[in-house]
Amino acid sequence: MKSIQRFGLFLLVYLALPVWLPLAAAEQSRVAVILWFDTEDYLLPADDDACKRLAEMLTERHLRATFKVVGEKARTLERRGRHDVIAALRKHDVAYHANFHSVHPTPSEYLAECGLLDGMAEFVRREGGGANDVRRIFSVKTLACYGQPGSSWAPQAIACLKQIGVAPQGIPCYVDEGDHVGLDQKPFWYAGALNVYKMGRNCTRMELHDPAAVEPAKRKVSAIAERLVKEDGGGLISIYYHPCEWVHREFWDGVNFRRGANPPREQWQAPPQRPAEETEAAFRRFGEYLDHIRSLPRVRFVTASDLPAIYPDAVRQTGASEQDLEAIAARLAAPGLTGVDAQVIEHRAYSAADQFGLLTVAVSQLIAGRKLRFPLAAKELLGPDQAPPPARANQHLDWPAFRDTTLDVLNFIETQQRVPSRVFVGAEAVPPADYLAAVAAAYDFHRRNGKLPTSEGVTLGNHVELLSARHIAQDTPGLFGGWIIHPEGFRAPKILEVARLQAWTLKPAMRTD
Ligand SMILES: [Zn+2]
Repeated sequence: MKSIQRFGLFLLVYLALPVWLPLAAAEQSRVAVILWFDTEDYLLPADDDACKRLAEMLTERHLRATFKVVGEKARTLERRGRHDVIAALRKHDVAYHANFHSVHPTPSEYLAECGLLDGMAEFVRREGGGANDVRRIFSVKTLACYGQPGSSWAPQAIACLKQIGVAPQGIPCYVDEGDHVGLDQKPFWYAGALNVYKMGRNCTRMELHDPAAVEPAKRKVSAIAERLVKEDGGGLISIYYHPCEWVHREFWDGVNFRRGANPPREQWQAPPQRPAEETEAAFRRFGEYLDHIRSLPRVRFVTASDLPAIYPDAVRQTGASEQDLEAIAARLAAPGLTGVDAQVIEHRAYSAADQFGLLTVAVSQLIAGRKLRFPLAAKELLGPDQAPPPARANQHLDWPAFRDTTLDVLNFIETQQRVPSRVFVGAEAVPPADYLAAVAAAYDFHRRNGKLPTSEGVTLGNHVELLSARHIAQDTPGLFGGWIIHPEGFRAPKILEVARLQAWTLKPAMRTD
C-alpha cells in the first residue's frame, strides 16, 4: 500500500508540475517592469472611465500598476461620485502627482528662487494637502511614490516626500522620467529617496494611436529585457502613460495652462475628445502590448511600493562594517585626493554624505576614547543647504583645532541631519569635502598606528570636488522650458545648484532579486 501511495504522490507531483513551472519561472524573473500612469486630467469626464477601464484590464490580467493621482483628480472623482473608479484604482498602487499639476505656479516655478530648506517648506505647504486628500479619498495609509508634473522637477520635493506621506515601508520613492538627475539609467538613491528617473534606454512605451506601432514596440521591450539580462543579469524597465491619452485629442492642461496661461477655475475648458472607435482601438492595442510583455521569459510587473524590497539600502539597514569603513577611509586618505563620489563595496553603496557621517561619528568616538562598535549606524543625511566657501590657503591643521572641528561637525549632523555647507576651524570656514579628506586621513592614521595623529595634526583636502554632482543636468533652455505649461524660455538654474549640493546623497540602488 505504502509504495502505491508513494507512486500516487509522485504521480500527483508529476501531473502538477506543468502548473508549477511558470510560477517557478516567475520567481526567477530578473527583469522587473514598472508600469505607471500619471492620472491627472480632472476636466474631461471621459478620463474617469479611461482610468477605470485601465485599472480593470490590468486586474483581469493579474497585473498591478502604479497610478500617480493628482490631488484635484481625486477630489473630482469624489465630487462626481465615481466610487467605482476609486475602487478600481485602489486595486493598484495609489501614488501622487502634485495637487493641481499645471495650475501656475507649478513646482519648478515656485521653487525657482528657493534654497533647500525654504523650498522644502514651500513644497509641503503647496502639495501636502493634496497628498492628504489622495490618501483620504483612496483610504490608503501611504502613497507609493511621487513624480513631478511635466518637467517641473526640484530636489526639494524629493527631500520632503516622507513629510507629505509618500513613503511605502517608510522609504520615500520617486518615479518619473526626465533628465535632471540620473545614474547609469538605473534606480538610484538621492535626497533620501529611492528614485526611478532618467531611465533612458530602459524607458519605453508604445504609441497608442498608431496600428503600425504595435509590433516595433513589442520588439523593443523584448530587446530591452534581453539586454538587461545579458549585461546585468536583470534590471528595471520603466513604462508610463496617462489615462487621458486614450480619450483626448489634446492634453487637458495644454488647453488651459499653456505657456504660463492661468485662467480662473470658472474658465477651465475640457479638452477635445477622440471618437469612441479610436479609444477602443487604443485599448485593444494596449491589451496586446501588455499580453506580449507578460509573456516574456524572466519578466514580471512590479509597482512603486515593491521597489524598497527590490532595492534595499544595505548600508542604511545594517550600518557599516569595520572593513568597509577602513576601505572607505583608505580611498579618501590617498595622497592628492581630487574628488569624492559614492563608493560601492560589494552590494553596499555609500554616498559621499554616508562617508561624511560615518567617518565623523567614528573619529568623534575615537576622540572620546571609546572603542568603536561595528556595524556603525549610517544615518540619513541631506546635502548642504548652501554652496561651500573657498578652500583654506593653508591645509595643515594642528590636532586640537581639528579635534574641536570634528566634534562641532558631529553636533551639526546630529542636530540638522545634513552635511554642513561650512565646516568651521575657529573663525575660518572650510568646504565640507576638504574636511572629509582630513577626517578620513585621521581615521586611516588611527588604523595604521593605533592612535590618533595628536602630534602630527591633519591635512585638509585642497579643492576636493564633489564628483557625483556631475550627474546633475546642466541648465539648458529645454530642461524646464521644454514643457508646454512653463512660460516660454522658463529656466531655473538655482534649482540645479540646489540639486548639485544634494549630489552628496547620490548613490546607486543595488538590486537584490
Ligand atoms: Zn503629469
